[in-house]
Amino acid sequence: MNRHRLHIVLGSVFTFFVLIAVARTTRAQEAAIDCFDDLFCIEPIRSGRKVDIYLRNMLGFELSIELNLKVDNMSVDRELPMSKTLAPYELYRAVRMTGGKRGVQWSYKYSLRWLVGKIDARHDDRFVYSLPWSKGLTFGVGQGYNGAQTHRGKYAIDWDMPVGTEVRAARDGIVIDYKDTFYEGGISDDLRSRANFIGILHSDGTIGQYVHLDYQGVKVKIGNRVRRGDVIARSGDIGFSSGPHLHFEVYTVTSDLDRKTIPVRFMTSTNRAATLVVGEGYTR
Ligand SMILES: [Zn+2]
Repeated sequence: MNRHRLHIVLGSVFTFFVLIAVARTTRAQEAAIDCFDDLFCIEPIRSGRKVDIYLRNMLGFELSIELNLKVDNMSVDRELPMSKTLAPYELYRAVRMTGGKRGVQWSYKYSLRWLVGKIDARHDDRFVYSLPWSKGLTFGVGQGYNGAQTHRGKYAIDWDMPVGTEVRAARDGIVIDYKDTFYEGGISDDLRSRANFIGILHSDGTIGQYVHLDYQGVKVKIGNRVRRGDVIARSGDIGFSSGPHLHFEVYTVTSDLDRKTIPVRFMTSTNRAATLVVGEGYTR
């Protein structure tokens, strides 16, 4: 079993190819089980001229995987690439390949992309989120939905917020990913993929993401269940950021393993279900 040492930043994808030539002789090279961190494994099981590719979710929550194959002298029993959301700990037979012409070598290689969460989760639009900070405090929206700076085409909110402010969960859920080892903030392009964040999976399968958190500012661990209002982090100014703020968005995983953000409403001190707008301050 190979283990790949890579930190899976939520939303990033990774492609891995392996070439397995299965000759007709006893010197056949067998495919190995490959596991990616503690996220999932790909497990090819060969029986004669058939090779079944299984995907095993190692997580206690849903994980979506896209599998593609390139085959040589083999037939495949389904259309590719295929994407699938695996239930917690599910072992799923993704595809069966069968060796073709006898006496001719057959081979395959695969590529994988993955994202934690469920494909096309349907957001519960009746749900009203809490502002993600302590009661009584007020923060202003520096950039709102479809904002011209970095939110074009995205339903995301930035609140101007001093570094070190307690960030609280806007909704109940399970912590599925986080990062808090980055320590630089600014507007150089290389910082776009270097923001600290937490991802929380909600009961409807959508994910809330809290971004630009402080260095070592995350107070939860993967797998923790959090309740609305729980302290989850300290805010920061880390990653691609022009000043201290908290970025928040709710998204679902799409069938092509991208992320689609979703507009949500917030409970404020004066409004039971507000759509937040840029330039306004809101009190929890
Ligand atoms: Zn933002």
